[in-house]
Amino acid sequence: MSDCLFCKIIKGDIPSQKIYEDDFVFGFKDLNPMAKIHHLFVHKEHTGNVNELVETSPKQLADVYLAISKFSKESDLEREGFRVVTNVGPNAGQTVFHTHFHVLGGERLGHFGS
Ligand code: AMP
Ligand code: ZN
Repeated sequence: MSDCLFCKIIKGDIPSQKIYEDDFVFGFKDLNPMAKIHHLFVHKEHTGNVNELVETSPKQLADVYLAISKFSKESDLEREGFRVVTNVGPNAGQTVFHTHFHVLGGERLGHFGS
């Protein structure tokens, strides 16, 4: 999608701090971190949210979670623990409409849900 921020980041048209890349998935540091570690993992194929992603191709969900799994094993995240969050729509506060998975860790995380 030509006017999508994360598509531009994946293409390298907008700079980011890349932390992971494979054939299908791109990972980069969140610009406004909410925890000591706050990364975003996105599929290279554009979809607007996780429902659209899984309806388009359930494999994309596996691609993203495999990438997160690999990354967590290569860093301290798996040992220390981490959280994966994906926001859908206004009540969750979704602001970027390219499906993305927040990976949070590096410190003890607070409770969530409200
Ligand atoms: P969400 O609110 O779930 O849609 O998350 C969007 C996330 O994208 C937020 O955590 C933002 O801080 C992050 N973000 C916005 N623009 C950029 C950017 N150019 N580079 C990295 N992260 C960004
Ligand atoms: Zn996009």
